[in-house]
Amino acid sequence: MNGERRPRLVVAGFGMVAHRFVERLAVLGGTERFAVTVIGEEPRPAYDRVRLTAWFDHLDERRLALCPPEWARDLGVRVITGHRVASIDRVDRAVRTGNGYRIPYERLVLATGSSPFVPPVEGIDREGVFVYRTVDDLERIKERAAEARSAVVVGGGLLGIEAADALRRLNLDVCVVESGPGLMGRQLDAEGSAMLEERVREKGGRTFAGVQVRRIDAGDGRLILSLDNGIEPLTGDLIVLTAGVRPRDELARSAGLPVAEGRGGVVVDDELRTADPAIHAIGECASHNGVVHGFVAPGYRMAETLAEIVAGRKSRFTGYTPAARLRLPDIDVWTLGDTARRGVRLTWRGDGAYRRIVLRDRRLVAAASVGPWREIGVAQDLILERRRIWPQQVQAFLRNGSFSNRSARLPVAEWPASAVVCNCLEISRGELSAARARGCDTAAALALATGASTVCGSCRPLLHELAADASTEATSKGLIAAAAVAVAVALAIVGVAPWPLAESVESAGLLDVLYRSGAWRQATGFGALGLALLATGFSLRKRFRFLGSGDLARWRLAHGALAALSAVALVAHTGLRAGSGFNRLLMVAFLLAGVAGAAAAAGVGRRSVRLMFWLHVLAVWPLPVLLAFHVVVSYRF
Ligand SMILES: Cc1cc2nc3c(=O)[nH]c(=O)nc-3n(C[C@H](O)[C@H](O)[C@H](O)COP(=O)(O)OP(=O)(O)OC[C@H]3O[C@@H](n4cnc5c(N)ncnc54)[C@H](O)[C@@H]3O)c2cc1C
Repeated sequence: MNGERRPRLVVAGFGMVAHRFVERLAVLGGTERFAVTVIGEEPRPAYDRVRLTAWFDHLDERRLALCPPEWARDLGVRVITGHRVASIDRVDRAVRTGNGYRIPYERLVLATGSSPFVPPVEGIDREGVFVYRTVDDLERIKERAAEARSAVVVGGGLLGIEAADALRRLNLDVCVVESGPGLMGRQLDAEGSAMLEERVREKGGRTFAGVQVRRIDAGDGRLILSLDNGIEPLTGDLIVLTAGVRPRDELARSAGLPVAEGRGGVVVDDELRTADPAIHAIGECASHNGVVHGFVAPGYRMAETLAEIVAGRKSRFTGYTPAARLRLPDIDVWTLGDTARRGVRLTWRGDGAYRRIVLRDRRLVAAASVGPWREIGVAQDLILERRRIWPQQVQAFLRNGSFSNRSARLPVAEWPASAVVCNCLEISRGELSAARARGCDTAAALALATGASTVCGSCRPLLHELAADASTEATSKGLIAAAAVAVAVALAIVGVAPWPLAESVESAGLLDVLYRSGAWRQATGFGALGLALLATGFSLRKRFRFLGSGDLARWRLAHGALAALSAVALVAHTGLRAGSGFNRLLMVAFLLAGVAGAAAAAGVGRRSVRLMFWLHVLAVWPLPVLLAFHVVVSYRF
């Protein structure tokens, strides 16, 4: 930087989202442009909070670490752990830590996350009452559990059920108390909650829904919870509070920055900027469009967006469709989208599982399931991409709980390219297939190349399946070859001089004779047309896979191969001549369809694939009319 002082960027909070932000900033060169300081209140660098519960299994916090010890040095950033940012001086542009250090900034990023909500109940501060958010919290719970026989979990949401299962595995009798009408009541309807409660009870847990804790007393070394609704008091040796979280926006509040009404959260715009242009907020402490996102995927997306903005690129955070998953060994619950949204509700029940979808204007807007639903990525794709649901898909769902007639088990290699496989990092099937085609043939290699399965790990089985699918690689290679042919033909027709025709009969070679012969022109012309029609037919069959059309990947390959052959026949038919008038239009439409199809086949980015796909479809539409015209004109003249 020519001896110039680099602008200072301070990150307050060192959790999952702050870590992601700094990593992404480093990739974009931002850690060279800015002198970055990260200040975290916890005594350790960022760790995988999503897998926090796994700490009870291995008791090794290093297995949760997100960054190796040399991380900060390698990236050239300063990390201060075990210090809280206590205040922001917006006039002097500096933060002050709890022990009085002043750290100036030109840009400040708030990534302070959430704190567990502690209900205002008498006796809540007694010894033996714990929250469930950090490694330190779990260490305290583990210590108490060593002497305990029973525990009460207050809060029956995702976290509460996960905590209850962990306590049960510590050999405690566990009871879950939920104030709402049912477990996971914010995401599931009454039937889903009831089924979940049944599963929790099958595992030996007790549940009380629709019950408020009134008071906590201590007696004989135990804790006694008084409940409302005339229910007998509950006794436990320890209590774990999982009654929700609240954004940690206290720094912003005391610095006079606007926070959202009600549940709070630092108000940010699409560029994740607060009311002070030098201060941004990301992750669970931020409120965007009135929503505080309580999951890691939107936090990561915010982190990536902000890293791009800070690195000088254009980027915006436009929101996130909620996706929540409870994954315990025998309990699998998914909720996607706003399950409370109005619409047509359809339910499938079978094999001890329950699936509900919400349709609006023939589009899927939300889904929830209790029990395994490995095709959930397909449902998520339908929601995210706002795809229309065909009546046959609705019937298939009602019949077998899947969107396909083939079976309830659609191989992951056949999911749409944009279907999300790894929810934590939002990695699509297309990205994974592309990595597979580049030679990543184990789940570990796929994880290393794309990051999929490295946060919560629940998509690992899908990665194994994709890695084992030999047809994926062959199909991808075949498709890329077909795409290369289509592009080569387009380039040749646009950039290479037409095949020269002999001026006289004496100098005419075999190719001249062939090219001028009506039979050759008819054979190549109808050949190109027939192959293109077949390719289109195959593609339509692919889209109607509920008809039972077999392996989608192979249909796609057949479509690409026929289209490439048709392009070769076109070269033989035209001798690389683009023609004029309508013929040129026909050629342009044909080449555009080929190149866009090739780009869609070879592409991996979700948005570009979709764009290219639609361009491909758009270019195919005028072809029948132009072709008909071409045939009529050719025979007439
Ligand atoms: C047990 C558990 C399981 C979960 N499971 C899932 C899941 O399956 N899927 C999912 O999507 N999400 C899950 N979550 C939620 C997920 O962990 C959060 O969405 C994610 O951690 C949010 O990241 P963040 O960086 O915004 O906040 P955090 O991870 O909370 O990090 C914020 C950090 O900032 C620090 N901090 C706060 N104030 C200050 C200050 N003034 N000065 C310095 N440091 C400060 C905090 O101590 C904390 O270390 C789970 C959470 C828990 C607790």
